[in-house]
Amino acid sequence: MPEGPEIRRAADRIAKVLVGDEIAEARFWFPQLRRFEKRLKGARATAVDTRGKAILTRFDNGLTLYSHNQLYGRWYTTRRDQFPDTRRSLRVALHTATHSALLYSASDVEVLNAKQLERHAFLSRLGPDVLDPDLSPADIDARLADSRFRRRATGALYLDQSFLAGIGNYLRSEILNRAKVHPASRPMDLQAAGRRRLARETLTISRRSYKTGGVTVTRGLARQLKSSGLPYGQYRFWVFGRHGLPCYECGTPIEQVPISGRRLYLCPSCQPR
Ligand SMILES: [Zn+2]
Repeated sequence: MPEGPEIRRAADRIAKVLVGDEIAEARFWFPQLRRFEKRLKGARATAVDTRGKAILTRFDNGLTLYSHNQLYGRWYTTRRDQFPDTRRSLRVALHTATHSALLYSASDVEVLNAKQLERHAFLSRLGPDVLDPDLSPADIDARLADSRFRRRATGALYLDQSFLAGIGNYLRSEILNRAKVHPASRPMDLQAAGRRRLARETLTISRRSYKTGGVTVTRGLARQLKSSGLPYGQYRFWVFGRHGLPCYECGTPIEQVPISGRRLYLCPSCQPR
């Protein structure tokens, strides 16, 4: 499943073709949304925001298109009416005079007014978005110290979207590894400096992955690994998917463990229990 950085990049692509332009035609494949086809025609998209893994396309008439890709949904952006060659089913089509933003296979789609957006059941449960440019390490540090979160094992906490929205499976492994935190450790087990490091790495790794298109290692290390012949799947991450391969920091073989039902990767030397 795509995580916050991939969703944010999809939102950027949608914004690029829609924002500022008039919607020339809107089409919905869900019968209950068809009544919005007329209301969106002539509206202008003002922004495409993300909240964790949800995308919010906002229009100047007060309506917002909410979409959550779940496992299968995918947005494509194309020149007008250049439909992609895919076997997925088209769910939403937003056309400007020159471009199209097309959502395939998603089932979780709504059109909401401001009040409905504010009360939205899924959105109101989400914590701050990990890619919100206003989110600071101090904000995350305060959240780690909060009584709602400080007693939870970090391995489970870092998948909980009410703690921070947008972190998924690969970011969880990468962040805990860079912060040298064992997934069984709770925020309350960490020294103040260790907690601050975890807060800092949470932002550093998430923002880097957004900027680079999914690479969490430093630019220097990525370049070095790439020039040694490693494919993208092997040079992009510190630990995720690297079971049995040596840690870039200390050489210890990376281990894979299931935590909260999903695979987590760690270095047993860098992240002692
Ligand atoms: Zn290590």
